[in-house]
Parts: sequence; C-alpha cells; structure tokens
Amino acid sequence: MKAIILAIGNELTSGRHVDTNSAYIAERLATAGVHAAAHFTVGDDRSAIAEALAGAAGAAELVIATGGLGPTPDDLTRQGLADAMGCELAPDAASLAMLEDFFAARGYTLSETNRVQAMLPAGAEPLPNRHGTAPGILAPLGEATVVCLPGVPHEMRAIFDEHVLPRFAGRAGVIVRRELRTFGMPESELGAKLADLMTGDGDTTIGTAVKAGVISVSLQTRAESVEAASAVLSQAAAAVRNRLGEAVFGEGDETLASAVGQRLAAAGETLATAESCTGGLIGKLLTDVPGSSEYYLGGVVAYADDVKQSLLDVPGELLAAHGAVSEQVAAAMAEGCRRRFGSDWALAATGIAGPTGGTADKPVGLVHFALTGPDGTTTQCQQISGTREIVRTRAACAAVNMLRLALMEGQ
Ligand code: ATP
Ligand code: MG
Repeated sequence: MKAIILAIGNELTSGRHVDTNSAYIAERLATAGVHAAAHFTVGDDRSAIAEALAGAAGAAELVIATGGLGPTPDDLTRQGLADAMGCELAPDAASLAMLEDFFAARGYTLSETNRVQAMLPAGAEPLPNRHGTAPGILAPLGEATVVCLPGVPHEMRAIFDEHVLPRFAGRAGVIVRRELRTFGMPESELGAKLADLMTGDGDTTIGTAVKAGVISVSLQTRAESVEAASAVLSQAAAAVRNRLGEAVFGEGDETLASAVGQRLAAAGETLATAESCTGGLIGKLLTDVPGSSEYYLGGVVAYADDVKQSLLDVPGELLAAHGAVSEQVAAAMAEGCRRRFGSDWALAATGIAGPTGGTADKPVGLVHFALTGPDGTTTQCQQISGTREIVRTRAACAAVNMLRLALMEGQ
C-alpha cells in the first residue's frame, strides 16, 4: 500500500516552520506496512489544495493531509477537499456534536466562527479530536482514501494514532528499519562496497545518509510480521557489516563516544584528553555519554604553547623545533596528559582550525592526533576541508575514532 503525505500552510511553504508532521506520519505509516511514496507542501490556497489532493489521490491509495482545518478564513483544507470531490460543504451532525461536546466540557458555548469546523463534504466522516476543536476528516476521493488532520502537531498525532493508523495496520504487513552507523570510510568507497545491495529491487532497501562525518546506512524491509522483517534485516545487516568491517561503530542512537565508552568500561580502563584546536570538543563528545565518569577522568584544553608546557609537560624545544601543530607535539601532549592524569589512555589533537593561520606546509584543516596507551604512542595526521566548525567537529570525531579502532584491535 502506498501513501502520499501533504502538508498545508503558508508558514511551511515560506520556510518559517519546518514540516515535522509529515515525518511523523511517514514513520508511523511504515509500522503499518504503508510506504510513504512522496511528501508535498502547499500554501493556504484553496485551488492549490484541491489540485494537490486530487493529484495525490490519483497516484496513491492513501492521502494524508495536515493543516488548514482551523476556523479562520485562511484555513481552506475543508473547501479544497470539497472542490476535489466535486461537492459542496454541508453541516455534519456528528461533527457538530463533537464540537459542542468539546466546548461544553470547557464551559463554553460553540461560537459561530467554530461552526465552520462542523462542515464536511458529502460522504466524509469526522474523526474525533480530543485535544482541539477541528475534527479530522476521512473521505473517499476517486479510488483513494483521503484523511485531513489539523496542523497542530499534538492534535494531529492523537487523531492519527487513535483513528487513522488502526484502520490500515495489519493490511499490508509491516515495514521495519535498522540503521548501522559508520565513520572513517569515505562515502564513495562505502557506496562502491554496497553498490549491488543498494539497487532498490525487492522488498528490502538500503540507503545512506551523511551527518557530521558519520555515514548512516539504513536498511528497511517489508514483511508479514515484525519477526519476519527482523529476520530479513538481520541477514542484510550482517552482509553490510561484513563488507564495511571496522568502519561500523554501532546502530541506532549509538555514537562514536558511546562505542568507545562501552569498550573502556568493559575493560575497566580510563581515558584523559589533551586538546588544542578542538577546544574541549573531544571531552564534550565523551561526556555526552551518560555514565562516562566511569572511564573518563578529564582533560586539558591547552591552547597556548605555555600551557602545553606547564600543564602537559611538552618540552619547549619540541615546540620550537616543530611548531605546535606537529606530530611530535601531539605525541608529547598525549604522553604528558597520560602521566599527569594517571590514565590508561590519553588522546591529543592539535591543528589549524582556520579560516586564518594556515601556511604552505601547514594549511588550514591540518590536524595531528596522538593516542597513547599501555602499548605506546601512535600518531595520525588528517587534512580536513571545510569551515572552522567542520574542521573542529571532524577532528574531535576522528580522535575518538582513533581510540575506538585501537580498542577494537586489542580485543
Ligand atoms: P487549528 O484548528 O489549530 O487552527 P489547523 O489545522 O488550521 O489547526 P494550522 O493553522 O495549519 O492548523 O497550524 C496550526 C499550528 O500547527 C501552527 O503553529 C503550525 O505551524 C503548526 N503546523 C501546521 N502544519 C505543520 C506541519 N506540517 N509540521 C509542523 N507543524 C505544523
Ligand atoms: Mg495553517
């Protein structure tokens, strides 16, 4: 079964508000096996609404629209639906009763303005709204079923969950999703490794999305039951993990830092950080994880060379010979940090965040990393491109990833 979702409102087309209703509906429909094939947005314009509803009803079995059911003249979904159905709006006794009850329960009488919310196209059915005045509307349009819901998110959700989803649940099986999260493998390489799995044929689809350097691989399938879908996804996830290897750091809400945290906690080991260009971001990522006090001891943000010397014991000669952004200084920062904190592991990052301060041999985006632990010190250097924010965020993630890979090797 296929659905099209329509968001209605000038606040959405103008960009003042972001359409969160459609995302909610699409996710919930998937749990009932209904695939959201497209999302459209139109303004508060009667003919645009009528055209969009008619077009969607010609292309999908189910159309769900939100917004524009209010009592004011700019709320035109009711009229747009009647136009698309080729009929007039008429007072509906059931809707009127719902509205009167809603007002009576709050000690008010129904106003003339609100009466318009009891007008429905012929053949439409009102859907009770516990949280607001506008009932939802369910109506046939051509071969399709159209559902119109209020725009206010909590009203929309309650009507959708209580009166819409149950009608479609179980008819078309279920759609289940899983998301594997990766770091460190370029998107092109990842795409090439998964190319034959990403063709989109069959009931299982695999796609990728990138955010802050993390590439998520989402796997989705349709089946008769959650159990059957989960079994198919387990196989697909195993195939993806197998091809991407250690680039996969977790699933769902897991972060690089939580993956590191689990391993440190399991090993009973501790970590400290020495940061220059990342200004504490590595510490932030690590402490975003609840329970991180179990393994994260703390860190030093050593921005000035003096502080690298006084708090991390970086030798002045190293700074003079190689500069603060160098492999040697990164290693000395990590080693000094580990000694001072008495931790099992220490991570360090020093680089040029930009946009100024780059030179020919040390361009903006150059970051040196060091990790020191029970078996000694390793270093790494990366050239990150992008804004200051991107360079710093990527650098912090790359540092945490360096430790993650080292901890995986040790297992
Ligand atoms: P009401 O009966 O409350 O007037 P309505 O159906 O007319 O409901 P709108 O006036 O279109 O709803 O929207 C009411 C509120 O809901 C606005 O604050 C609007 O920004 C928000 N809203 C509307 N559509 C969406 C959407 N697709 N995603 C998120 N918020 C939305
Ligand atoms: Mg509106």
